[in-house]
Amino acid sequence: MDSSAESATATPVLATTSIIFHVHGDPYADNEEVTAVMESVAEKLRAVLAEAFAGDPGVEVIGAVSFRYPGQEDANVYRCVRCGDWLTDSKLPSPCDGLMPGYLVNGEYLCTQHFEIAVDSGEIPMPEGYRVWRSGDEADVGDERGL
Ligand SMILES: [Zn+2]
Repeated sequence: MDSSAESATATPVLATTSIIFHVHGDPYADNEEVTAVMESVAEKLRAVLAEAFAGDPGVEVIGAVSFRYPGQEDANVYRCVRCGDWLTDSKLPSPCDGLMPGYLVNGEYLCTQHFEIAVDSGEIPMPEGYRVWRSGDEADVGDERGL
């Protein structure tokens, strides 16, 4: 099997993931300490990816690193109120690739697992417009309440 990115039959696939790290200071301010931490994290990510895929000609390490600031209105990065997992709301602008989807219920976010548990137990109705995917049931849509 040809795993070369140059193969005529190869189809590119973009993989994205996320990490959360913490800084002491305002990332928006001109703060050398915070900037140094952010640059260090970006360099480590590039180095880890370059090392991990150094022997694989079918993988191109892009190296772009972007930052979002959870808690800022436009970040679209939230935490599940039950387990603390990081998530993104696909119904809002700029959902974050690399985070699992979350669901806004009564003003609080739930991760997919806790959302499904709450819906399945009858704790909450399926919010309109949401969809829960279940294996073998790709047509399960939000208008089926009280699952
Ligand atoms: Zn959760």
